Amino acid sequence: MISLAGKAALITGGSRGIGAASVKLFAQAGADVVFNYHRNREAAEQVEQEARKHSTRVESFKADLGKMADAKKLVDFARDRLGRLDILVANAGIWNEQDTPIEKLSEREWDEMIRVNLKSVYAVIHYAVPHMIAQRGGRIVAISSTAGQRGEAFHSHYGASKGAIISFVKGLASELAGHNILVNCVAPGWVDTDMSASVLHKKAGMKSALAPIALKRVATAEEIAGPILFAASDLATFITGEVINVNGGSVLCG
Ligand code: NAP
Repeated sequence: MISLAGKAALITGGSRGIGAASVKLFAQAGADVVFNYHRNREAAEQVEQEARKHSTRVESFKADLGKMADAKKLVDFARDRLGRLDILVANAGIWNEQDTPIEKLSEREWDEMIRVNLKSVYAVIHYAVPHMIAQRGGRIVAISSTAGQRGEAFHSHYGASKGAIISFVKGLASELAGHNILVNCVAPGWVDTDMSASVLHKKAGMKSALAPIALKRVATAEEIAGPILFAASDLATFITGEVINVNGGSVLCG
C-alpha cells in the first residue's frame, strides 16, 4: 500500500542505525536513494549492497554534514544521480557516551554537538529546498528525539540540539507549505543502535532506560524507519509541522 516508486530520496547518516534501516526500507518501497556516511565506508557499502536487492538506484557519498560545503556536495550529488529530489530525511547525528554536567561541558563539546546535530539539518535543508520548490513539492523528515522534548540531564547539549530541530521544523512547515513542501519530525526514544550501545548493552543502563517505557523494551531501527517512511509517503499528505512520537509510550506528549 505504501509506495515510493519513482521517488528520489536523500537520507543522511544512512550507513548505520536508523538511517541504514531507512535506506533499506525506502528502497524496498521503490525509491531511488542517495545517502551519506561520515567515516564508515565499509558500513555504507554493506547498506548499498543490501538495499540494491530491491532493484532501485542506491548510492552512498562521504560527507561531514556539519560543513556547508559537504552538505552542498551531497545534495548536488543526489540531484545529479537521481535526476530529482522528492524526499529528504535529515537523520545524521551524534550523542556523547559520557555524562557531562553543565559546569564541565566545554565550548568545544557544545559547538561540535550543535554543528553535527543541528547545523547539518539546516545545511541539507538549505540546499535541498530550492530543488523541491522548482519541482513544486517535497517532503522533509528530520529526526529529533525524546531528549528534544523532555531534555536530557548530563547530555543537555544533545537535548538542546534535538529540541531546536522541533522548532526549526515547525517554522519551516508554515514557511514552505505554499510550495507544497511538508516538513515533519520523527522523535524516537531509545533505539538499539551503535549510538545507544554503551548504555543499552550494560545491564544497569538497560534497566534505567526501560523504566519509563510503557512497552518495556527499546525500539529496533526498523521500528523508527517505518514511521519515517510513512511521513514521506502519500498516506501522510495532510501532516505538516508535526512531531511523530515513536517512543514506546515513554514520553506522552502531543
Ligand atoms: P548511529 O547508529 O550512531 O548512526 C549515525 C549516522 O550518522 C551514521 O551513518 C554516521 O556515519 C552519521 N554521521 C555521524 N556524524 C556525521 C557527520 N558529522 N556528518 C554526516 N554524517 C554523520 O545513530 P542512530 O542511533 O541511528 O541515530 C540516528 C538519529 O536518530 C540521530 O540523529 C540520533 O540523534 C537520533 N536518535 C537516536 C536514538 C537512539 O537511541 N539510537 C534515539 C533518539 C534519536 P558513519 O557511519 O560514517 O559514522
